[in-house]
Amino acid sequence: MAGEPQADCLFCKIVSGEVPATVVRETDTTVAFRDINPQAPTHVLVIPKAHHPDAASLAAADPQATADVLREAGAVAADEKLDETGYRVVFNTGSGAGQTVFHAHAHVLGGRGLNWPPG
Ligand code: AMP
Ligand code: ZN
Repeated sequence: MAGEPQADCLFCKIVSGEVPATVVRETDTTVAFRDINPQAPTHVLVIPKAHHPDAASLAAADPQATADVLREAGAVAADEKLDETGYRVVFNTGSGAGQTVFHAHAHVLGGRGLNWPPG
């Protein structure tokens, strides 16, 4: 069923605590934790606690949780003082765009100059 934990999903295991993570923020519906392979001085992932494979599926199934993820992305940026210099929120969607974990997640990136367009 949409939203149910998936036994083989890395980010569901981070939500349950089975896999450790450096959690920086948590709400009833979201968890934010540092990316294990950071691509910028600040690189935090914000995920819904419920399992949805990508951002579009999350938005279709649960608009409130989608809003919660975006609000928390902004809160992470403020916590890390990125709101003063600028930051990027990225949802890689599909393997051709670099998605490797199929549990929706927002990358919050900042703390260095960010080129546009991204690679
Ligand atoms: P994506 O490639 O957009 O699916 O993003 C998945 C992200 O998860 C990558 O940036 C990985 O570095 C990150 N990642 C993978 N395993 C872990 C982990 N155990 N803890 C934190 N981040 C992870
Ligand atoms: Zn999951």
